Amino acid sequence: MKNLPHVDAVIIGGGWSGLLMATQLGARTPLSVAVLERGGARKLADYLGGMDELEFNVRFRMMQDYSQETVTLRYTTRDRAVPIRQLGNFLPGTGTGGAGEHWGATCPRYVADLFELYTKTVERYGAKRLPEDHAIVDWGVTWNEIEPYYARGDKLMGVCGKAGNIKGKLIEGGNPFEGPRSEEYPTPPMKLPYAAALFEQAAKSLGYHPYPNPAAALSVAYTNPDGISRPGCAYCGFCDRFGCMIGAKAQPTNTLLPLLEKQKSVSLRNNCAVRRIVFDKNAKRARGVQYVDANGEECFQTADLVVLGSWTLNNTRLLLLSGIGEQYDPTTGKGAVGRNLTHQVSAGSQVFIDKPLNRFMGAAPTGICVSDFDGDAFDHSNLPFIRGGTFRVAGTGFQPVVSFGVVPPNVKARWGSEWKKASIEWYDKVAGIGFSGEHIAYKTHYFDLDPRYKDHFGDPLLRMTIDWRQNELEMVKFATAKAAEIARAMGAKAVIGPPSFERYDARRYQSTHVQGGTIMGKSPETSVVNPWGQSWDLPNLFIMGASTFPQNGAANPTTSVIAFTYRTADALIGRYLKSPAPLA
Ligand SMILES: Cc1cc2nc3c(=O)[nH]c(=O)nc-3n(C[C@H](O)[C@H](O)[C@H](O)COP(=O)(O)OP(=O)(O)OC[C@H]3O[C@@H](n4cnc5c(N)ncnc54)[C@H](O)[C@@H]3O)c2cc1C
Ligand code: SF4
Repeated sequence: MKNLPHVDAVIIGGGWSGLLMATQLGARTPLSVAVLERGGARKLADYLGGMDELEFNVRFRMMQDYSQETVTLRYTTRDRAVPIRQLGNFLPGTGTGGAGEHWGATCPRYVADLFELYTKTVERYGAKRLPEDHAIVDWGVTWNEIEPYYARGDKLMGVCGKAGNIKGKLIEGGNPFEGPRSEEYPTPPMKLPYAAALFEQAAKSLGYHPYPNPAAALSVAYTNPDGISRPGCAYCGFCDRFGCMIGAKAQPTNTLLPLLEKQKSVSLRNNCAVRRIVFDKNAKRARGVQYVDANGEECFQTADLVVLGSWTLNNTRLLLLSGIGEQYDPTTGKGAVGRNLTHQVSAGSQVFIDKPLNRFMGAAPTGICVSDFDGDAFDHSNLPFIRGGTFRVAGTGFQPVVSFGVVPPNVKARWGSEWKKASIEWYDKVAGIGFSGEHIAYKTHYFDLDPRYKDHFGDPLLRMTIDWRQNELEMVKFATAKAAEIARAMGAKAVIGPPSFERYDARRYQSTHVQGGTIMGKSPETSVVNPWGQSWDLPNLFIMGASTFPQNGAANPTTSVIAFTYRTADALIGRYLKSPAPLA
């Protein structure tokens, strides 16, 4: 083991959360900081020749290599988990920028009551309406506490959109169901693709409240408060699962890396995979990390402060591998590490419209949303489920390899000339109405270490125990009927609902919005970090990212990841460094 010279702070993971924390420490403190990123280096120029659908959208060149490390999955504790061998239900990132390089840049905030989900739901419906076996909790943070950090994140990325509620005043054209914002979006909404415009008209005709999808792909050139300038989007359609070749889509490499390159106190070490956080149990202190460097050599990096930002699965796994905290046990309810595993509910419908939609143009985050059935915006008293989600028609830029072959239900052939003819005829005439729904936490959904399967280093894989429950099935049924209603108002010739949504399916892309495992809360008995992201067990360990979110919102999570990272940075720099002790 090679012992490396001491640094003040080590950050694990070079994605949005890790690099944002690095820029904050680099700009606001004199600390020496090392960021350890398991994947390779990246820069804007890498994406210039990157519009290759086969490489990036079929072979997933930017994602984690499952032949080296994957997860295992089972539905219940009675099942034997098996490894997921192919990228499917989610697409973890690796390399500088993490998944924030190939993300879709849709940037909604969570609904305001998500942070107090237990209290608000019981207040309105009574405790009996909570699903049996639920693990719903309040986060220990309120909307008013987190909103200023959302605003900072919006400015960092230059999020485009139209506010629906500024300081309690509702604004026409925005989302009236959002929590009150302190100010308007930094940039105006993106251009609309035709299918989204049809969706907008249809939703309005039904009395709903459509609004532009909040997007971190710029509608206009923008310079953020850090002085970083990015150009407006070219609507090339190669966003989601690709890096943006001109830097219009906010990515850590075009928004944070330019700052880090100027910060002499911060170093970014690529191809360095952390295997353990080393700690002193008696002193209740993290001492540093053990990692394998680019040459395959085992290294020990000591540090006074350890910050973990390696995404949900890796954050949870690293704590378990390192023996920090107590593993959650679903039979006794004891232990906090691993609990509240959730995966956003995602169920889209295909809408066949008998006219060309020019689907090849667009950008992943441009489009129109409807949130009339999100969170608790509608009365659930007589419905067989709680909570809800957002409908969205986006202009993803439908690429011919992965988008080809969707045919209306009256075409029975699934191969051969009839299928080919129909596929060509309908290729540009299908719009997708996406639905992203909340996933509440259950006591029996959790992470632990798999007793059988190991990664390429010989460390146990992370095991997921998860399945859909009645609440999700009923929510999807309701959402599918609503999507069909809007589709008919769009003039659809036919609609196909989501493929069978009964069991959690590792083959079907759900979203990369897997959450929980190291959740925040007010008690060390039931949470891993306090509401400032500080470990209850080791006060010099801070954890960032969606692993700390106790429930899964309908909104895509990255804006919230960025907001909470800013909040943790403020608490760490403003309070912890002045008096290194528990913050709660
Ligand atoms: C295809 C796709 C589309 C998406 N679209 C959206 C969207 O439209 N809107 C939205 O809000 N979110 C979206 N997301 C999710 C978004 O990318 C994540 O929420 C965000 O990137 C999380 O940031 P993070 O820093 O927590 O984690 P990551 O971006 O995953 O970064 C973590 C980093 O840690 C590194 N790491 C992991 N383990 C180790 C280790 N042991 N040692 C060293 N380094 C390690 C990883 O290599 C990675 O670079 C999308 C994701 C994908 C894959
Ligand atoms: S559509 Fe716009 S944001 Fe997306 S990759 Fe192309 S230029 Fe970049």
